[in-house]
Amino acid sequence: MHFLSGRLMQNYSGVDILACENDRVRFRWKDYRADNKSKVMTLEVDEFIRRFLLHVLPKGFRRIRHFGFLANACRTAKLPVIRAALQAPEPAPTIELANYRERYAILTGHRIDLCPVCGGCMVEIGLSPSSPSPRPTPPHCDTS
Ligand SMILES: [Zn+2]
Repeated sequence: MHFLSGRLMQNYSGVDILACENDRVRFRWKDYRADNKSKVMTLEVDEFIRRFLLHVLPKGFRRIRHFGFLANACRTAKLPVIRAALQAPEPAPTIELANYRERYAILTGHRIDLCPVCGGCMVEIGLSPSSPSPRPTPPHCDTS
């Protein structure tokens, strides 16, 4: 684990391993959501490695991060200022769709809540019970 802290943690920015004992790892990390506050967390080794491996990219991939005014920490505050300076219009507000039916209608142009045969409004009445296992085919009498 100490090998990890020396070599691999360079890419796992903002994390310092403080201790590794009894199958637990205690480390300091930066909480970017809380003003880059430094915090200490203790995890089981397996969980620590699992989380660490989430940050390892497959071969050939490169991590893309936003810097400057697009960095997560300041984007919300700086973009309106930049738009005002450039006299650029505000983007259209994102429409929050209520449910999957609306998303389906927008994506496909078909409404899932209308009957495809008569166009009537379909009402959800519940789940249908699972069908019983198929009956064996009755004896068949071929008269030809
Ligand atoms: Zn119908």
